[in-house]
Amino acid sequence: MSPLTLGILGSLAAGLMTAVGAVPVLFGRIPSRSTRDLLLGFAAGVMLAASFFSLIIPALDAAERQFESGAAPAAVVCVAILLGMGAVALINERLPHEHFKSGREGPEAASLRRVWLFIFAITIHNFPEGLAVGVGFGADGLSGGLPLAIGIGLQNAPEGLAVAVALLGEGYAKGRAWGIAALTGLVEPIGGLLGAGIITLSQPLLPWGLAFAAGAMLFVISHEIIPETHRSGHQNRATLGLSIGLVLMLFLDVWLG
Ligand SMILES: [Zn+2]
Repeated sequence: MSPLTLGILGSLAAGLMTAVGAVPVLFGRIPSRSTRDLLLGFAAGVMLAASFFSLIIPALDAAERQFESGAAPAAVVCVAILLGMGAVALINERLPHEHFKSGREGPEAASLRRVWLFIFAITIHNFPEGLAVGVGFGADGLSGGLPLAIGIGLQNAPEGLAVAVALLGEGYAKGRAWGIAALTGLVEPIGGLLGAGIITLSQPLLPWGLAFAAGAMLFVISHEIIPETHRSGHQNRATLGLSIGLVLMLFLDVWLG
């Protein structure tokens, strides 16, 4: 199979795990808030490890091949990370506002707005996740992409569940809540196609793309996911989940990568 096909299929499989994770909602079987915070903390840990081991370190390697020595490789990667964080911050700031001007008002509207901001952030960061999977397959074939596809797929499940449960809490029907959660994951194969495509087409863009994707993910982890897991007083479980996710992703990356 060509790296491009592998990249698309791998990121599609990882993206579909979002829909799988949200399935309990269809049957009205929702895990407790503390369990959900543990699982979402796990997602944050996987993403944190993936940002560094699967995006930032490969970005530095790629930049060093281009610039030989000096401060340039580190500078390129630092700037690209900040650009990635800034881009998501900007989108987060701008886009949803108009969307929520009309409709409900008062505290209900505020909670609906928060839920949609969360969903929006999850959708945005699925793009760099797909990109990472695509680049992994594109650069190193099966051994480069597989650990990422597994890790990203694993952390998509609790994300899908969190999205569906949040929508259920706002009064959405079970089927719709599941459908919206499933849709947030389908951004991933688009990123996968682009990631696998970039690496085969333009090597100089690679460190920029990888580090930009890492920045986008880091912003979402810090700005949306970790605060979400701490909002109901389950900090210990959230941190436990994060530790497990972090070491699991590290292990997968070194073992399979
Ligand atoms: Zn994620």
